[in-house]
Order: sequence, then structure tokens, then C-alpha cells
Amino acid sequence: MIAQVFQEVFDTSYDITFRDRLPRLAGCQVSGWLDPVNDRILIRRGLSLEERSITLLHELVHQCYPDWSEEDVESCAVYIYDRLAEEDKAILGFLATDPAETAIAA
Ligand SMILES: [Zn+2]
Repeated sequence: MIAQVFQEVFDTSYDITFRDRLPRLAGCQVSGWLDPVNDRILIRRGLSLEERSITLLHELVHQCYPDWSEEDVESCAVYIYDRLAEEDKAILGFLATDPAETAIAA
């Protein structure tokens, strides 16, 4: 399961994009959004690196297991994150970071 979801980090056809604001669900601003219509995963800016990493995993778990409940998806994302090697966490963190935030000013 970990390998399958982590492989999605590399294989996903979704663009990963970043937004300051995402829709609210039940009064809470969501951290991430899987947007199949536009082939993209949205991640909210302003979260910590760990939160963004887990959010990206969360959206990829949705992609792997579309029938799972929100609760199961989140547990799975945290479970995987806790078991990743440091180098895999670094790759995930890189993908879950807005390039605009790390760009060197011209
Ligand atoms: Zn979700």
C-alpha cells in the first residue's frame, strides 16, 4: 500500500498547484483538493512542510482508493508519511512546495 501510493507521487498525471485559499467544507478550509476535471491537485499555501506533504499524500490516496472514506484516507496518508525514509520525505516535500516560494529573486 505504501509503495503503491508513493509510486503515485511519481506517476500521477495531475499537476500540483498552490493556492492561498481553498473551498470550505463544513466550516473548515480544506488543505488540499483533487480536481480531476482540470487534472490537478491543489494544495493550500501557508501550511507547514509536513502538512503540505501529508496533504499531497492524502490526495494521492484518494486517487488510488476512490471509495475510501475521508477518515480512512487521512489515516492512510499519515501512516505512510510516518514510514517514509528521509530521502522519500524530501522528494515529497519538494513536490509539495510551491516553486514560487523557493524561487530565487531575479
Ligand atoms: Zn480528502
